[in-house]
Parts: sequence; structure tokens; C-alpha cells
Amino acid sequence: MEKSNDGLRVVLFPLPIQGCINPMIQLAKILRSRGFSITVIHTRFNAPKASSHPLFTFLEIPDGLSETEKRTDDKTFLFTLLNQRCEAPFHDCLAKLLVSSDSETQRISCLIHDSGWTFTPSVTKSLKLPRLVLSTYTVSFFLNHFALPKLRHEASQDSEQDDLVQEFPPLRENDLVRLLKEKREYLEPYLNMMLEATKSSSGIIFMSCEELNQDSLPKAREDFKVPIYAIEPSFSNFPASSSSLFTQDETCIPWLDKQEDKSVIYVSFGSLATMTGPELIEIACGLRNSGQQFLLVVRVGLVKGTEWNEVIPEELKATLNEKGKIVKWAPQQEVLKHRAIGGFLTHNGWNSVVESVCEGVPMVCLPFIWDQFLNARLVSGVWRVGLHLEHRIERNEIESSIRSLFFGNEGEAIRERMRLLQEKVGRSVKENGSASRALESLIDHISSF
Ligand code: UDP
Repeated sequence: MEKSNDGLRVVLFPLPIQGCINPMIQLAKILRSRGFSITVIHTRFNAPKASSHPLFTFLEIPDGLSETEKRTDDKTFLFTLLNQRCEAPFHDCLAKLLVSSDSETQRISCLIHDSGWTFTPSVTKSLKLPRLVLSTYTVSFFLNHFALPKLRHEASQDSEQDDLVQEFPPLRENDLVRLLKEKREYLEPYLNMMLEATKSSSGIIFMSCEELNQDSLPKAREDFKVPIYAIEPSFSNFPASSSSLFTQDETCIPWLDKQEDKSVIYVSFGSLATMTGPELIEIACGLRNSGQQFLLVVRVGLVKGTEWNEVIPEELKATLNEKGKIVKWAPQQEVLKHRAIGGFLTHNGWNSVVESVCEGVPMVCLPFIWDQFLNARLVSGVWRVGLHLEHRIERNEIESSIRSLFFGNEGEAIRERMRLLQEKVGRSVKENGSASRALESLIDHISSF
């Protein structure tokens, strides 16, 4: 029988980007479904829509970011600024909350914050509140990315080698070169603080399961020496659509309703990746030439300096519209769940990868930044449920990868492996499955504080 957690409140603190807000809100929904009350403290920048979650309490803190700072490409710099500017307001907000909750019937049990908030140890120490960390990365990326500054010193700059990076499997040398070229000021101090904050926490939560992290979970337990909970890979139980920062184009679903089963390739690159105009045109031409129906998300800002998709010539757009649909933002989980979807050309953000696995949709991998390189190797090389474009954004490559995925023998083998992986991951959330047991342990842990 489930224990009652009525009377216990958990405070959550997401990092203000889409790929971090979604898993935190999913965690909030899971904890709420198990009887905990939820308070979400969030920045003014990219504030989640409180009205979509009437059962949670939302408290906003100022972040002091200027408009230019909000638009920076350097996420490490952005997170460093956020950590500097939010410490005092966060401390005040949490202190007030603790004082007011003492006088009510509800006790605050702990803080769960995104691993990207690095100032939290001193705040919770001074307020004597237990603290857990949520990592929105896959376990192996989270575990190994602390070695990036060291790898940066050692790496040869232009290796196009296909060799595995020994310290960072299953990343390849050529992925590492791309990753290390990203502009990330303050990477070393930022990662050091994150590591400290993680090691001094009362545990780490991953929105994943043992089955997706077999090699890395034992090592993570050894390295971090705190309890680790991989609790929920199956986002379909707790959809993320309600935490979207973008307006979803709901016309995607009636359009998909009109398509044949497993005939459509869904194409989306998440909330952060950017590409050049010519790259978008190559993708568009690859889609057209593949002859496959497609649903293409061109986020505002995907091509820097443009309004939307005006870099695609009108003539090409007209041909594209015969076979496909272009939107600014899709209800992704609903799309992936739709019977008409047969493949996903993706940037391999961790949420997108998990959502795709949960719906059994095979992938074409086109990673752009950061953890996406590693996730793409997991998909294509370890689980072998997708094809890797090997960073070639060329129409012929895109066309042939889509054709192979939908029609070739390789595509058939990939679909079969994806079906098995989907089943395995699905079982993890059923009674006695790995994720379901991890969730029970997490709930016991939180209730024990
Ligand atoms: N997403 C969406 N509509 C889109 C594209 C993405 O709802 O058109 C959602 C997607 O379902 C996922 C999140 O946005 O939950 C993106 O997270 P991910 O980790 O895949 O990538 P990031 O945006 O962090 O690069």
C-alpha cells in the first residue's frame, strides 16, 4: 500500500530553459501524484506558465538578466550569471517560505534543484534544509562531462577520428572536437561548482531508468557516493506539453490524422540548437527529395537573424507544402505518439531521445551541441535504434538516411530493435520495474528527511 505523504511539501527549482523545465515539471507531477505538495521557485526569465498547473504553488524571483544577456549563445556564461544574480533572492524566498510553513500544518521536506544551480549548498546549509539534485542529462554525460576541462587541455584540435574517447564513452573524437569548439566561458569553475554541489547533496535524480544507463549507473554511484535514483523514463504518463515555453501549433495533429500509418518523418531540433540558412535549405531539400511526408519544426531563432523560415525560397516552400507541414513549435509528445509518425530526424536532446524511445520511434541523429553528441552515439551506436548523419548536413545524406530508415533492411532492423527497447523501457515503470523501484526509494528518502 502506498504511504501517505500528505503534510509534506517539496520545493523545486528548475533552470530556466525548456529542456530543464519539462523534466522538473514532470518530477513535480510525479511527486504530486504521490501526495506531496509542490512549490516551484523560478526565475522571471522563462517563467513556467503557472496557470497550466493549478495544483502547484509558483514563486518568482528576480534574475537581473538584461535582454542581451538572455540572448547569449554561451549557456555556461548564462548559467554563471544566473547563479551569481539569483543566490540572494533565492535565499530570501526560501527563508520566507520556511518561516511561513512552520506556522502551518505543512512541513517542507527538501529542495530539489536542477544540477545547473551551483550556489544552493550554502543556502540550504544555512537554512538546514536537505537538498537533492535533478540532472536533466543522461547519466553517462552527467558523469563524464566534469572531465571536459581536462580533455580540452589534451585534445588535438582538428581530429576527425572516429575513435572512442576513452574517458567519455560512447563519445567519438570528432564529437569531442565539435563539443570543445563551443564557446563556453567559465566552463571549468562552473563545472567544479556543479560537482561540489552534486557530491554534497543528499542524492541525484535522473529522469531515466537502469535499462538506458546500464554501463554508467554503477560508475556514477561509485563516483558521487550519494544515492542515485533513475525514476521515470516514460514521459507519456506525465506529459510535458503543459510546461511548454513556446506556443504549440495544434494543427499538427489534424494534419497527421490525414496521413497513412508510419508514413511521416518528424523533424525538430529542440529549443536551443541553431543552424545557418544554407543548412536549413539542405535539410528542406533532403526532405523534399526523400519523397516522404514530413512535419518540420522551424523554431523562431533556429536560423539566427531571421524572423522565421524566410531563408527557404518561395518556390521550394511551395513544393514542400505538397508533401509536408512546417510549424514553429509542435506538441512533440503528442506528435511522437501519433500512429502516422514513422521516424524522427532529431538533434538528440535528452528529452527528445527519451520521448522517442518511449513511443518507439526510430531516429536519424543530427546533434548540434553539448550532450546531444553523446546522446546521438547512444541512439545510433549503443542501442542501435537510429542512423547517424555524421554531422553531414547535405541534402543527399538526409534523403538517403530517411529512405534507409523507412524502406531499407537496416531500417527494418532498427525498427525491430526500437520495438524491443521501447518494451524494455516501458516495463521499467511497471510494478517492480527498475524505475518504479527507484521511485519508491526516492519517495521513502524524501519522506525520511
Ligand atoms: N519540444 C516540443 N515541441 C517542439 C520541439 C520540442 O514540445 O517542437 C519539447 C520536447 O518534447 C522536449 C523539449 O521540448 O520535451 C526539448 O528538450 P530536449 O532535451 O529534447 O532539447 P533542448 O531543447 O534542451 O535542446
